[in-house]
Amino acid sequence: MADPAPTPMMAQYLALKAEAADALLFFRMGDFFELFFDDARAAAAALDIALTHRGEHGGAPVPMCGVPVHSADSYLARLIRAGFRVAVAEQTESPAEAKKRGGKTLVGRAIVRVVTAGTLTEDALLDSRSANWLLAAASGPRGGVAVAAVDISTGRLEVGAGDTLDGLVARYGAAELIVPDGMAGAPADAVLRPRATFAAKAARPRLGALFGEGPLDGIANSGDAGLAALAGLVDYLDHVGRGRLPFLQPPVPVGTERMTIDPATRDSLEICRSAQGSRSGSLLDAVDRTVTGAGARLLAADLAAPLTVRADAEARLALVARFAADGPDRQSVRTALRALPDIGRALGRVAAGRGSPRDLGHLRDGLIGARRLAALLPADGTPPLLVELLPRLDGHAALTDHLSRALVPEPPGDAAAGGFIAQGYDAALDALRASGGEGRRAIAALEARYRADTGVAALKIRHNNVLGYHVEVPARAADRLMAADSGFTHRQTMAGAVRFNAPELHEQASRVLQAGAHAQVAEAAHLEELFGLVLDRARAIAATADALARIDVSAGLAEQAAVAGWCRPELVDHPCLEIEGGRHPVVEAAVTAAGGRFVGNDCRLSPDSRLWLVTGPNMGGKSTFLRQNAIILLLAQAGSFVPATRATLGLADRIFSRVGASDNLARGRSTFMVEMVETAAILAGATDRSFVILDEVGRGTSTYDGLAIAWAVVEAIGERLRCRCLFATHYHELTRLAGTLDGLSLHHVRAREWKGDLVLLHELAPGAADRSYGLAVAKLAGLPPPVVQRAKTVLGALEAGRARTGGVAAGLDDLPLFAAAAAQEAAAAPDPLKEALAAIDPDTLTPREALEALYRLKAAA
Ligand code: ADP
Repeated sequence: MADPAPTPMMAQYLALKAEAADALLFFRMGDFFELFFDDARAAAAALDIALTHRGEHGGAPVPMCGVPVHSADSYLARLIRAGFRVAVAEQTESPAEAKKRGGKTLVGRAIVRVVTAGTLTEDALLDSRSANWLLAAASGPRGGVAVAAVDISTGRLEVGAGDTLDGLVARYGAAELIVPDGMAGAPADAVLRPRATFAAKAARPRLGALFGEGPLDGIANSGDAGLAALAGLVDYLDHVGRGRLPFLQPPVPVGTERMTIDPATRDSLEICRSAQGSRSGSLLDAVDRTVTGAGARLLAADLAAPLTVRADAEARLALVARFAADGPDRQSVRTALRALPDIGRALGRVAAGRGSPRDLGHLRDGLIGARRLAALLPADGTPPLLVELLPRLDGHAALTDHLSRALVPEPPGDAAAGGFIAQGYDAALDALRASGGEGRRAIAALEARYRADTGVAALKIRHNNVLGYHVEVPARAADRLMAADSGFTHRQTMAGAVRFNAPELHEQASRVLQAGAHAQVAEAAHLEELFGLVLDRARAIAATADALARIDVSAGLAEQAAVAGWCRPELVDHPCLEIEGGRHPVVEAAVTAAGGRFVGNDCRLSPDSRLWLVTGPNMGGKSTFLRQNAIILLLAQAGSFVPATRATLGLADRIFSRVGASDNLARGRSTFMVEMVETAAILAGATDRSFVILDEVGRGTSTYDGLAIAWAVVEAIGERLRCRCLFATHYHELTRLAGTLDGLSLHHVRAREWKGDLVLLHELAPGAADRSYGLAVAKLAGLPPPVVQRAKTVLGALEAGRARTGGVAAGLDDLPLFAAAAAQEAAAAPDPLKEALAAIDPDTLTPREALEALYRLKAAA
């Protein structure tokens, strides 16, 4: 049987669905968004709402589910979080307009936007303290990749270049990544877009018109990939916004002045996310004392991409120092900041066409607050960064005056009900309101008169959406109003009451209605005009928002430094790392919370002592020591004070951190292979300006393999890379390298056995650990005493065996070093010429044979 033709509505639905094949289609039906077919099944399951049916298609019932329009945001949020994209199809005309147009009642519908994880602007869908990055990636013709990254909620736009896509995606913690179809090395969850949309040349005129040539030149300098990525990004925004671009600030090129940190290092240092994947327990969480959402977002960005240019880091440090020095001043600035609304995001919503009167109120209050804040910060002798920021806080007086005149003090979040334009802003609007108010008062007065006229004391004037204003009396009194000469017209009979209209009431009601309708139109027009005024100054407002965020970050870091006793690091140009009393902020917080005391430790890396080998018992504090030094350097380069009593630091171009495979279970990839791939990446990527920490590398395999690999890696770092490195290991055999490898020194975390119990001192000391304390740690961990006892016996046997054979490390003493080994191996290879020469005995040769031998040798050479 042939399928019956789809109903007109179904045909409309299918056409829209074809436009949004990769998204769930939210199909507006009156007060609901409805979903059909597979979309309905998927959404009902993801949202845990009822799946029903509506009508038939192709002879089968159509699965359907729906969500109310007024609460659609929260459903959208859940679907986006569950990994869906949602296309929103709105009604583009009213039923009345549809009728006028074609005599049919099917209203026109169109997809007005596609909501994706990277293109959200709804407040309810965003975390106010994290940026929401959408990334577009493109690869350059000569290797290397670039990403264009935008936070739509504020319009911040950056274009960054790097060696690997992984590293760039990890820097932003991207909510959504788009790539050209067929791009090599793209992650599986990337959104594929047509290659043509990433064409840098073709897009150049459009990008130029959007951003101006100046910013584009800055990006073009780093190769075509940046422009290509930007082109792909703008095209995609156009696509999901159905032709309406969000507010975009001029793109900022981000190059080598920011540090590249690979994903493994981010994970192991737990910079913005802890090993459990949450913000809590991360470095960011431990240092974040910002008081605004924008400040929190900027701090996350700072830590995710520390600076590599000393002057840039110094500029930030100087501002932190200014706030650190003056406590009362810092507190008043922070109090002022705390009261400020998020103007960056309010601006983002206005620019996206989803602004509300409340957003305008926020912009007014935020910009006025910014100017007041500037007054709190006199620019005399302040650090250059502040001198640069202060003017950006001001300059909006004309706009804020206008908004102050135009808006009521607390404008509503929804424009529909009106009432947000202030009295006195528009005389015509005031007159309309007065007229509406008079009408309402007249209606109130009518009630008393009607009661007197009819003698029905229970008579009331009521209002509802169907009848408008009407007179209501109890059923038993209705007769008096039913009389033909009563002046009342019957409208409706209810169970206990009857409703009427009356000419005078009708007249006043029309007056109220008309005035209300006109007032609404007038307010809507004012709203658009105010949005326009804001958008005219969008860039300047965004600059104010950014300046406020920088001040918040600086004051917050100063607060952290003051509360936690941090010091200002001294940044220098030579590669050193001299830290006194260094601490790990996250471990310290945990130790302190548990009632313990964190032991500060020194670290002293310099060109002569570049590589520290750290040994000592498990749980002794090796990992913590390694990481705290990496974190201190990272914080300093992000422009923060550091958890130490004193620190002199040479800036690193990169920081690498690797943890041996078995420590890495949380990442779910606990294979030796991963460990080796990551170690290879360090050996390939580190320079003599880098800082590397390696924690128990090699332990993911057998003892011999592991030791051999650890040995070779330490040598390669010490001799070839010559970078600063801390290497924690439980292979005591490695300590033999101290005698041969220049720049390597030995250190250990101290422990003591006291009355048979192990005491971990968490204190770093020079020299190698005298023993491993493995059994003592096992006992400390609660291994049953008989098992510990048995292990002791086995260990005794093993150690006796080692004493006889030389053990695991037998033979290592004679091992030549990395470079020497290569030369020696070359020397040891057989040489045919030498062998042939050795085979000749000159005393037994005739002159002719000697001559022939000479020719043979010559030919072989
Ligand atoms: P290892 O790497 O040697 O096995 P960790 O660095 O993981 O040891 O430290 C183990 C535990 O010891 C930490 O979780 C912390 O509770 C404690 N710890 C480490 N360093 C210190 C320190 N400097 N002061 C106080 N406690 C510490």
